[in-house]
Amino acid sequence: MTTESQAPEAAADAPIRAQMLIGGEAVDAADGQTFDLVNPATGRAIGTAPLGGKEDVDRAVDAATKAFEDRKGWANWAAGKRGRSLAKYAALVKQATEELARTETRNIGKPIMNSRGEAVGVSLVLDYYAGAANKVFGETLPVGRPGIELTLREPIGVVGAIVPWNFPMYMASWKLGPALAAGNTIILKPASASPLTAIRLGELALEAGMPPGVVNVVTGPGGTVGAAIAAHEGIGKVAFTGETITGQEIMRLAAANVKKISLELGGKSPNVVFADADLEKFAREAAPAIFSNAGQDCTARSRILVERSVHDRVVELLTAATNALVVGDPTDEATQVGTLVSIKQRERVAGYVDSARDEGASVVTGGKAPDDGAFDDGAYYEPTILEGVTPEMTCFGNETFGPVISLYRYHDEADAIARANDGEYGLNASIYSQDGARARAIARLIKCGTVNINEAFGATFASIDSPMGGMRESGMGRRQGSEGIHRYTESQSVATQRLIRFAPMFGMSDETYAKVMNANVKLMKKLGRA
Ligand code: NAD
Repeated sequence: MTTESQAPEAAADAPIRAQMLIGGEAVDAADGQTFDLVNPATGRAIGTAPLGGKEDVDRAVDAATKAFEDRKGWANWAAGKRGRSLAKYAALVKQATEELARTETRNIGKPIMNSRGEAVGVSLVLDYYAGAANKVFGETLPVGRPGIELTLREPIGVVGAIVPWNFPMYMASWKLGPALAAGNTIILKPASASPLTAIRLGELALEAGMPPGVVNVVTGPGGTVGAAIAAHEGIGKVAFTGETITGQEIMRLAAANVKKISLELGGKSPNVVFADADLEKFAREAAPAIFSNAGQDCTARSRILVERSVHDRVVELLTAATNALVVGDPTDEATQVGTLVSIKQRERVAGYVDSARDEGASVVTGGKAPDDGAFDDGAYYEPTILEGVTPEMTCFGNETFGPVISLYRYHDEADAIARANDGEYGLNASIYSQDGARARAIARLIKCGTVNINEAFGATFASIDSPMGGMRESGMGRRQGSEGIHRYTESQSVATQRLIRFAPMFGMSDETYAKVMNANVKLMKKLGRA
């Protein structure tokens, strides 16, 4: 990635001319086309990135296949050597934290403290899988015949990784780490809104000593580059994160060569608050968790189901916690809520809020772009709380993907569980109650891939070790932890019919040895010992 100005003091604002990474080379799109990148906090263009197409995907598949098939290459390195290379990669990412964070904030309007946290998180993910590289174990199996059977976990080959714009670095790392540790090569396709850190992560992989072609980055629209990856016969697996509707299209495209797929899709996660919960703790944790990343978070538990008797108190506490959040310039260290990714995304969010109003919900706070003239050019939207939301309303089950909380007042436990399971999604949920046994029992009745008890966020996103993924239409497969790496392997069974031939050890032919053994068995039976 280059900036047109070389003056250090100008570098932070200099126009960017991004290039893709194919076979270790920084390249333009085959047809030379580019698209503009816009900083959503200012509305100003910050540079260009290559508008890749099918030909670029073909080039990347060739490079990744060559790197995978190289007999001395990545897939054939000792697993420990791959792990050491990943550890170096993790260290380089950590060193580049500030650069990555500033790039991300400028590209998508994420508050700088969150971008920094994400970059550090990426180095931890890579470090985790560095350690996992030589711990990808198969099994030995008890079998009902002489001999032994075992399973090996082999890399799949070329992996296509298609990621969204809301956590561009994290989503990339959760694919890069396990795919590379298992010995695959990869083609990373970032969302058009957020290509810059993906390209930099590709460059850092090269700097860490990974051979050219092991990590490739192709930029461009989902409908062409993403679709070409999903359908490509040279790609063995596609790992996708994005909207459910796109995931469904990827399943159709991937069917061509029965590609392995993992899908991390949308969510509209419930937050169930019982009357016996620590309500102050709930409000203190829930507001920043839901509004962080301006609500553009698949795991935001923004559908809050509150027990009738404490509803008004929860509204009061949540409103105070929400109004205390610092909304503003994403480059400001104090900012907690930055901009949405684009004006178009803000219009979508505003549309949901308007329809909720029309359908009878009331706006407790927010519900509009900030009035402050300083924010006029950016894609800002105030943190918003909607009260009186009912299951029939559009915003109840749909993913708003913006800073909007929908509050529902539930009647009893059965109503709370039913409303938590409403809709097609099943990604995450939170339960707040001081009765641990009750919370655990209810967790099992909520059909979500992860349920947090008395925490708004917690293990799913931040923890690398516990598997995360969606039930129902929120996806298939689990990322993170050891399950995460298995998604990037094929299990191969190897059977050995006879482990040891004893006959030669006694200087006998197999026939003579069999006769002696049969005679022994007969004798033991006669003596009652067999
Ligand atoms: P999106 O589905 O629009 O795009 C995601 C990626 O797919 C992008 O790179 C895009 O270019 C590409 N794409 C688009 N159309 C494609 C096609 N026809 N074929 C192949 N690729 C295509 O999603 P988005 O708006 O970028 O991201 C927001 C969505 O991601 C939300 O629904 C959110 O819940 C989800 N998400 C889920 C998780 C999770 O862990 N489950 C994490 C982050 C985001």
